[in-house]
Amino acid sequence: MGTAGRRRKKYLGAVDLGGSKILSLIADGDGHRLAEDLRPTGAQEGPEVVLARIQASLDSALAGAGIERGDLAAVGICSPGPCDVQAGVIPSAPNLPGWQDVPLCRYLEERLGVPVYLENDATAAALGEHVYGAGRGCRHLIYITVSTGIGGGIIIDGKLYTGATGAAGEIGHITLDPDGPLCGCGNRGCLEAFASGRAVATQGDALIAQGGSPLLARLAQEEGEVTAEAVCRAALAGDPEARRLIERAGYYLGIGFATYVNIFDPEMIIVGGGLSRAGDLLLGPARAEMKERAMPESLRVLRLELAELGDYSGAMGLVALLRERAPA
Ligand SMILES: [Zn+2]
Repeated sequence: MGTAGRRRKKYLGAVDLGGSKILSLIADGDGHRLAEDLRPTGAQEGPEVVLARIQASLDSALAGAGIERGDLAAVGICSPGPCDVQAGVIPSAPNLPGWQDVPLCRYLEERLGVPVYLENDATAAALGEHVYGAGRGCRHLIYITVSTGIGGGIIIDGKLYTGATGAAGEIGHITLDPDGPLCGCGNRGCLEAFASGRAVATQGDALIAQGGSPLLARLAQEEGEVTAEAVCRAALAGDPEARRLIERAGYYLGIGFATYVNIFDPEMIIVGGGLSRAGDLLLGPARAEMKERAMPESLRVLRLELAELGDYSGAMGLVALLRERAPA
């Protein structure tokens, strides 16, 4: 085929822009992963530095795959929080300080010379798990990510459902208790305020202050702060109070899952994100609570499973999205 064949623009770029890390990967037209780059976001340095870092990360992944910018057919990028998918603009981003109406797609299109598509990270991850992960072959599924915040995505009849404005699937902001703890969104008692990584870390902080978990105190001291990951590690190591925090998060998640089951009657709920590394410690109580509250007809077919793609759910969802949309 020689140069002419190689120049057919058939490669796809995907960037998962997170509050703490940027993951870029290059895939071929069949969706096979060729190369990747992972680096810290350095979000505190502001949008301009981060935008340059996204380009550098993509370039590094391109170099790893042995191809050039001109070989890309399209690039997809996903980000947590609100995304104006149509305009390709990030209106604001809770985990990216200073991001206000950033025209992300236009900025990258001008520099890369290819179409750039934006998607919410949990929405992209839902698609990734549907096409390449735990949800292969499922027509109706809900994906939920439990990380710093709680997000989700919905697949109905084999297709991504994004709603009227692209904001569908915000399970983290279902109200569980109108007078509950304050949530990052400004409301009280959202699921996210009870069961997210941030909430678990806050509860871990309080636990240490009460002298409740010497193991967690030691882990937090090593890391310099109380993180949900440290609570998970303490819980998996058998610390009873840390376990209780993870189980409590699972209990609240189960209430949220039941709500989703009753509305969508899905075949599958897939749970990803950092807190899902607690495995059955989190999913056990979630499953029990969901069974208490969801309609029995729906529960007969429902499977509750962990995500399969780990940190790649979002980026692989973008690859799936680009394979649908981009001119190959
Ligand atoms: Zn909220």
